[in-house]
Amino acid sequence: MEHPECLQAGHAHGEKLVPVTFTVRSTKKQEVLDITQQVAEVVAASAVPEGIVVVSALHTTAVIIINENFDPNLNDDFLAALSLLIPAGKWKHDVVDGNGAAHLKSAVVGSSQTVIISQGKLLLGRWQNLMLVDFDGPRERTVAVQVVKS
Ligand code: ZN
Repeated sequence: MEHPECLQAGHAHGEKLVPVTFTVRSTKKQEVLDITQQVAEVVAASAVPEGIVVVSALHTTAVIIINENFDPNLNDDFLAALSLLIPAGKWKHDVVDGNGAAHLKSAVVGSSQTVIISQGKLLLGRWQNLMLVDFDGPRERTVAVQVVKS
């Protein structure tokens, strides 16, 4: 017998854990969006006390990072630093859809993060937040969350 709340959370009761997805919407060309709370809710709904959670952006021009989200300037700095490393407008892919830099930034940073689950909660440091970074907004982005029980 499966509990409705478990199905809603993507959690086949007492059996296997399946991926949960949610969406976020960026409002700028490049934007950092905090998703710590959404991921924490998925972990809580899974009722897994100890394990790991994989958080993956299902895109090639948006990624998941862990960084401080207290000083908003740091998010601007992160975007600016990557733009210094990978400037826009000089890539072969730009003839396709003009977003070569966004693809390259995403591939360099990596699309997913893994966080430890301890005592039913995300094990994050005081200043660590999970954030989706959109390098080619504004648009809706999908995040997949897979809880793995240890
Ligand atoms: Zn492209």
